[in-house]
This record gives sequence, structure tokens and C-alpha cells, in this order.
Amino acid sequence: MASRNSSAAGWLECERVLDRVAGAVRGVLGSGHVPDQIPALASADPHLFGLAVATVEGEVHGVGEWRRRFSIQSISKVFTLALVIEKDGEALWTRVGREPSGTSFNSLVQLEHERGIPRNPFINAGALVVTDRLLTLTGDACGAVERFLRTECACPEIASDQAVASSEAEHGDRNAALAHFVASYGNLENPVGRVLDHYVRHCAIAMSCAELALAGGFLARHGVRRDGSRLLSRSDAKRINAIMLTCGTYDAAGEFAYRIGLPCKSGVGGGIVAVVPDRLTLCVWSPAVDASGNSVLGTRALELFASRTGLSIF
Ligand code: GLN
Repeated sequence: MASRNSSAAGWLECERVLDRVAGAVRGVLGSGHVPDQIPALASADPHLFGLAVATVEGEVHGVGEWRRRFSIQSISKVFTLALVIEKDGEALWTRVGREPSGTSFNSLVQLEHERGIPRNPFINAGALVVTDRLLTLTGDACGAVERFLRTECACPEIASDQAVASSEAEHGDRNAALAHFVASYGNLENPVGRVLDHYVRHCAIAMSCAELALAGGFLARHGVRRDGSRLLSRSDAKRINAIMLTCGTYDAAGEFAYRIGLPCKSGVGGGIVAVVPDRLTLCVWSPAVDASGNSVLGTRALELFASRTGLSIF
């Protein structure tokens, strides 16, 4: 797995590592709980598992259900953030912080104290502000994310799952409360209903581990897209990786840094994307999550992958 190129030997080694990780995580398959706050996702089979690796050159390899699509949920927040920074530079940081919250992803507690400025762009309140800005900049926040993902994966059928989006919208009192609260401080530019609509729709985009690993490739290539064009400056790509490390897995970010040592972003659909700058992007998926909303098996698989390959940013 240490090989940077796509030689047959390198891939054989990669296959061996993935197979070993898949074998070793069987013991935790099904551990945790399938979250029920989005009813359309509550019936997901907790025994499913997929893991894919995409190199910076765009080669993909996987194990388990690595081609099966699932709901990317909060992983979409990496892409909304990247698109806003691409179009708007630093302006976002007057409206959202960059500090870990130490609270759950949908918590309200800090917002009043901090006058409607969410702690970071990956908790729901911060992601709503990012979605709002993307809506102003593009007129279609969810569409902008879908187009970006389709291009990075060369996969025109990637789309938001309307049933999942509607299910979240129907049970979305908490996010509606967050959005109204942020709006009450003047920190939303668009009507709350429109922001929520685009937010639940980009969270409901369905992708596979292989597609997410490819789509996150720009983070391993220091801001360069799959076609060689630049999305972000090297420094902005570094900053997004830094925020993933410190905030991407919510109040478990310290534990992730300790156990895995890679920038990661999780979603309650059970997916986690991890970045090895200069080398590769990984995506692991298994629907049962822990109390922080991170896939139990996914966390263990990433930990095993990192320790067996020695790949870490530290
Ligand atoms: N759409 C979900 C929500 O807003 C995303 C949360 C997550 O994946 N952590 O609650």
C-alpha cells in the first residue's frame, strides 16, 4: 500500500490490505444503532459494509458493498463548503467559526451565546449558513453540489433521493429551529424554507463508497480536480482538511485524530470519507452509528487501515 503509483504490485498489496480490514471488522458488523431521525433511513441494514480507496491518479479499488449507493448526509457539507470557498474566498468566516463545538451535530446550545454565529461549517447550524451562501452565489445550492459530484465521478446519474429529502423535511423541526434561530440574528440571506429545502436535498444525495472516494480526490490533490483544473488554492484545500480533522466527526474529532490521524467527514447515513494528502481518499460505509453519529464499523475500519498502512498526516 506504500506505492504511490498504480503498478500491479501496488494494487495487489492494496487489495490485500482492504481484504484484511474487511475480515477484521466482521466482529463489529451491526454494532451501534441505525439512526431514526430520518425515517426513510431507519430501515437500512446494519450488516452492510463497503470500503473504497481512490488514488490521486483516479484509480479506485474496493471491498464489500463499495459500489452500492447510500445517503451521504453530512458528507455533503465538505462539498458545499468547498464550493462556497471557491466562489467567495474568505468572506464566509465572518458568518461561521472554525472551532470544534464539543456538542452534537444538531445542538442548539451554543448558538444563543455566540449570537447566531455557528461554531464551524460541519455542525448543522454552520452547514445551514454555508448552504444559504451557496444558494445566494449559485441560485441552486443542491444543483451546484450535484453537478460538481457528477463531474468528479464521471457519473451523470448521481442525484438527491427525493424520498429521503422529504422524509427529513417532514421530521425536520430541529433543523428548522436552528435555521430560524440563525436567521433571527440576521445570519441568513435567503428565506429559511428555501435554505432548509436545499440543505435536506444535498444531504439526501445518494452515492457509493467508490464515488465518494473519487469526489473527495481534490482534497488529496491539494485543491486540484480530477480533470487537472484547480478548484481551490493549495492553502484553502489544506484549511478544509484541517477543519475536517478538528470538526468533521463532531464531538468525536479528538478520538478520530488520535485513533486514525486523517482528516475525516462522517454522515448519519453511515459513510465516512478520509483523506491522505498526496496519496488517496478513502470512503467507508456501514449504516449503524455511535452516539456521535459516526459509523461504528467505519471508524474501526479506518483505524485498522491507517495502522496497517502507516498512512497518517502525523
Ligand atoms: N441531514 C442530517 C441532519 O441534518 C445530517 C446529519 C449528519 O449526517 N450528521 O441531521
